[in-house]
Amino acid sequence: MTYTITSLCLRYKACVDACPVDVIVPGEPKEEWPWFYIDPIGCIDCGACVPVCIYDAIFAEDEVPGYRGNPLYRAMGGEFISLPELDGHWEGEDVNGKLVVLDTTRQLEAGEEVDLAPAVNLNFDYFEAPRPDGTEPEKVGPGYEAVAM
Ligand code: SF4
Repeated sequence: MTYTITSLCLRYKACVDACPVDVIVPGEPKEEWPWFYIDPIGCIDCGACVPVCIYDAIFAEDEVPGYRGNPLYRAMGGEFISLPELDGHWEGEDVNGKLVVLDTTRQLEAGEEVDLAPAVNLNFDYFEAPRPDGTEPEKVGPGYEAVAM
């Protein structure tokens, strides 16, 4: 198992500092990979990244909303999701006060249900790692190069 960052991620970055084994990296280019991603091979499942995310975007893989029969994510209303196919503008600050601009977002309505499960395979794709079901990634991301930087 690994932990998974989902489409609720708005690049706050506190998870990067919290991770004791430095396996969380920003997606690049952010238009194609708008979140931060966790190297599924290197993650030691400590859970330290979860409480520091102000967007509650990180889940243990088997607890990701919508994944393998889990209930869908039910929006509080007002929070944003970020996906490459979306075009909504969002601006905020990361944990260091640095401006974050995303043009891949949409604001959720209260009670809206969202399937966050695609994040599981996308995370594996970013690192070119075989998915949990053993299949190869469909896309090849720059994840391991990003970790090495
Ligand atoms: S669960 Fe622990 S090791 Fe895995 S990404 Fe989060 S902080 Fe890093």
